[in-house]
Amino acid sequence: SEPARPKRIKALDPDVVNKIAAGEIIVAPMHALKELIENAVDAGSTSLEVLVKDGGLKLLQITDNGHGIDREDLPILCERFTTSKLKEFEDLTSIGTYGFRGEALASISHIAHLTVTTKTAGSSCAWRAHYGDGKLVPAKPGQNAAPKATAGRGGTQITVEDLFYNIPTRRRAFRSSSEEYAKILDVVGRYAVHCAGVAFSCRKHGDSGVSISTPSSATTVDRIRQIHGSAVANELVEFEIAEKKLGFQASGLATNANYHVKKTVILLFINHRAVESTAVKRAIEQTYSTFLPKGGHPFIYLDLEIEPQRVDVNVHPTKREVNFLNEEEIIEMVCSEIRSKLAQVDESRTFLTQT
Ligand code: ADP
Ligand code: MG
Repeated sequence: SEPARPKRIKALDPDVVNKIAAGEIIVAPMHALKELIENAVDAGSTSLEVLVKDGGLKLLQITDNGHGIDREDLPILCERFTTSKLKEFEDLTSIGTYGFRGEALASISHIAHLTVTTKTAGSSCAWRAHYGDGKLVPAKPGQNAAPKATAGRGGTQITVEDLFYNIPTRRRAFRSSSEEYAKILDVVGRYAVHCAGVAFSCRKHGDSGVSISTPSSATTVDRIRQIHGSAVANELVEFEIAEKKLGFQASGLATNANYHVKKTVILLFINHRAVESTAVKRAIEQTYSTFLPKGGHPFIYLDLEIEPQRVDVNVHPTKREVNFLNEEEIIEMVCSEIRSKLAQVDESRTFLTQT
């Protein structure tokens, strides 16, 4: 018999393409929140409040006191690749801010109901706009989609409702809202430790208390105490190391050899962005293995700054992973610095017990 004829190849509908892309960038509520936190910090905010309902699936709201968004920019705010942070491809290599691709808000608008309320210092009122599929949409069907004047403080409030409402399979994949809330707290907690001078709060809708509350004046150790407890905060050693030839500087806080936790905790920031790195984790665990009893693990906050032209942030859609030059040498230098700090504390302890 004759072979079957091929089906004709057709372009996907742009809305389908956008929805697929959005689902790759925003895998879970925590990814949307991470982007929103980075935007708020980029906007120079010193206060950041997060409100969460149903693990972020029903509601994710973040209120900042940053520079706000110009009313004239609201119509294109959620279009893909619109950004105030990048103009040329070359800028990708020298970008100092967190976001850079203009994809976060666009993505969120394709898979959730998004409302933005914002006020700049120069505006006499705040403006509120609703978005769907990258565009302004009316608050209610039949109404005008143009941003509406409203009362509001300086800064921006982003409200994300019904995340993944149009991706039912993804929505169903979330079994427990408390699990998603725990991941949200982890993200907020990381930035709350890292962002000196910024107040953070995170609250579950309906709860009277807050889960995280860090004043803007808190020191880094205070922040760790608030979020990870005094037991950890009381046992930290400070470290710092830089090498011009490798284009990096690193600083941080690590638990000493007299203390350990059940599971390794690494708060890793590369160029002020929370990232994961199995290479860093492995090296740190190796470093501590000679100091800690079996089954004991360290807590580490590591703030790593690498010359932007040596970092490739585009290896993963969620920007969770980054690649950088001389990775092995840099990690080894950081670990050997930590090792020498641990040895110092160890020696002083031996000395103390001997006298
Ligand atoms: P990117 O951060 O990559 O530029 P986003 O989609 O995250 O892309 O944001 C698009 C633009 O919207 C930003 O470049 C910024 O100008 C503006 N913006 C987003 N969030 C805020 C905020 N909280 N405060 C002020 N401006 C914001
Ligand atoms: Mg952004």
